[in-house]
Amino acid sequence: MARPTSATIHTDALRHNLSQVRQRAPNSRVMAVVKADGYGHGLERVARALGGADAFGVAALSDAERLRAAGISQPILLLSGFDEPEDIARLRGLNVDTAVHHHSQLEMLEQAPAGDPIRCWLKLDTGMHRLGFAPEHVADAHARLSALRTVVGEVVLMNHFASSDEYDDSPSNGRQTRLQMRLFEQATAGLAGARSLANSAAVLGWPEAHTEWVRPGGALYGMSVVDGRTGADFGLRPAMTLSTRLISVNRIRKGERIGYAATWECPEDMDVGVAAIGYGDGYPRAAPAGTPVLVAGQETQVIGRVSMDLMTIDLRGVPDARVGAPVTLWGPELPVERIADAAGTISYELTCSITRRVRFVEG
Ligand SMILES: *Cc1c(COP(=O)(O)O)cnc(C)c1O
Repeated sequence: MARPTSATIHTDALRHNLSQVRQRAPNSRVMAVVKADGYGHGLERVARALGGADAFGVAALSDAERLRAAGISQPILLLSGFDEPEDIARLRGLNVDTAVHHHSQLEMLEQAPAGDPIRCWLKLDTGMHRLGFAPEHVADAHARLSALRTVVGEVVLMNHFASSDEYDDSPSNGRQTRLQMRLFEQATAGLAGARSLANSAAVLGWPEAHTEWVRPGGALYGMSVVDGRTGADFGLRPAMTLSTRLISVNRIRKGERIGYAATWECPEDMDVGVAAIGYGDGYPRAAPAGTPVLVAGQETQVIGRVSMDLMTIDLRGVPDARVGAPVTLWGPELPVERIADAAGTISYELTCSITRRVRFVEG
């Protein structure tokens, strides 16, 4: 029998989430961010389901190649920009836009041979301090780009938020985001071009940041990174169900210990289920005992250490769980945000970490 571990991708949820984004940002064009294999949901599958998006955002040229090979004709933006002069020919060949965030990229563009012009998204660093031009260098970079015949006439101005998941009702009171918006406005005052600021959290909570282009990723997959809130709290639907089955059910005596390092002690005689999933499938090893899991639709908990191929589950409270019973690790009935919380990470990391031996199906 094939290993029963699968990730079901709900393409109708992807479409629903895109329409939710459009409702929230009705005057913006939507760039669907599909980096990291569509946040682990499958690049081509996601791009086809989100065919209504105005553009796609990727982090690797190889992903842009895959999208073009799959017949995707919308604009594609290389979010982190290109690395070396040879990439410029690939951008042209694929008709892919690039972020320009560093002087070295400006110089490569200035020295590039004549050819089809490339659309550039000039990236500002307004306080994230990862990629981008400092505000005082933006006007100069904009002028240099705009003067190039290798660059499409109108440059798009972009920014990335560090803390847009902290809203006005949060302890920080949205300070960082408001500061970034102000710096962006000051640095770009008088410069021609469309603006793009908002990631998912800003689409959901910072309408003043919507501008001409929004760039949601997580929201399209139904996920939230806002503390204490799931995608469903924003009207989004999870696009992935991760599931498997019980392959063993054992009666274990009180006082016996379960799994590697014998970390969990049975407080009474009890049934322990063994599910065919572990960190070798991408389920986080950091998920401690107590992490929620559904068996036959009923919520119970992980016990003991998650191992490579297997995990152990408390079956008290699920008395009729048998070998073969369905196990849901996350999905519409169990928000992935809860598992991420338990494992000390964010939902995005979990869906990105599903490994190749997991069977992907649509449904
Ligand atoms: C990943 C990314 C996004 C999308 O972020 P989400 O939180 O998933 O919406 C937007 N813009 C840039 C530059 C990114 O790298």
